[in-house]
Amino acid sequence: MQQRKRLVILGATGSIGLNALDVAQTHRDAFEVVALAALRSKEKCEALAAEFGAKAYVGEDAAVRAVEENDADICLVATVGMSGIRPTLAAISKGMDIALATKEVMVMAGELVTGEARRRGVRFLPVDSEHSAIFQCLAGGGDRFVDRLILTASGGPFLDGPADLSSVTVEQALNHPRWKMGPKVTVDSSTMMNKGFEVLEARWLFDVPVERIDVVVHPESIVHSLVTFSDGATLAQLSPPDMRVAIQYALTWPDRLPSVRETLDLAAIGSLGFRRPDLVRFPCLRLVKDALNMGGCATAVLAAADEWAVQAFIDGRIGYTDIAKAVESCLENAPKAECDSIDAVFAASDWAFSHLESKWRR
Ligand code: MG
Repeated sequence: MQQRKRLVILGATGSIGLNALDVAQTHRDAFEVVALAALRSKEKCEALAAEFGAKAYVGEDAAVRAVEENDADICLVATVGMSGIRPTLAAISKGMDIALATKEVMVMAGELVTGEARRRGVRFLPVDSEHSAIFQCLAGGGDRFVDRLILTASGGPFLDGPADLSSVTVEQALNHPRWKMGPKVTVDSSTMMNKGFEVLEARWLFDVPVERIDVVVHPESIVHSLVTFSDGATLAQLSPPDMRVAIQYALTWPDRLPSVRETLDLAAIGSLGFRRPDLVRFPCLRLVKDALNMGGCATAVLAAADEWAVQAFIDGRIGYTDIAKAVESCLENAPKAECDSIDAVFAASDWAFSHLESKWRR
């Protein structure tokens, strides 16, 4: 019998973590869950750990401790926001492959973490459905011949209106039409900041310049992304919108394991639609490219500003369209800084938080 892959799961009680545990439960002979970490949900995390015979870690430093005190083949990073950066670096330094769900790790520190991973001979295994799709399209060794990456976007709940988004409520923003996810990423999907983050993530994961990464809106969320090669051929990966497909592939790569999930019935779906994103109603997509062109720590400022603004929106402190305004204000005012260390990344994010706190203090 093949050795079971040992997993550490960070963000175990969130939607990605729970879906990963569902995959591990289905394939108990393929995976051994050695440790689970959660920020707050103590009882839930401990109950899950007991169920899987794993160790439980809860609290601010739980993710880093779960990595440092255990050995594993794969560390699934599915924490919220920038809290994923330190444990990712810790897991890389212990030689674990990284199944990455937390986009902010690449958005804020992509150059640093991919550099560390190369030095340690560690792999990134994408968990996000779009990046998993690209990873699968490249599985035949086609990465030398990539012309363009094409990320699909569901368009979120406001794709077809209202034209003026300024009075959008928290409840409306949290009502995503296709995917059931945590509140931060659901709001990010509605502003399309999530798609912007995915462009940056793809840039670092696949080492493709951002000028050759496109976004196309595809409301059905059946085609998860595409790769166009230098000879003009385009490959796509399709599956029903169930995040366990991507999670399982990250954990089983380069193999596949059977599953009893719903498979694709194209005739029942009938037709698939594609259109260009609206950069006027969804300025966050444009801001991401601005940040990348600014260089230095600008993408760290962007992600931190978004983290602050989304929480402030959920808390009722700012309006929906203020999210993009907050991010833009930070990009316009941020001090220029080299992004050559993890301390520089966190200094940039601290600057963004204090800039926004003083701007919106009432
Ligand atoms: Mg995605």
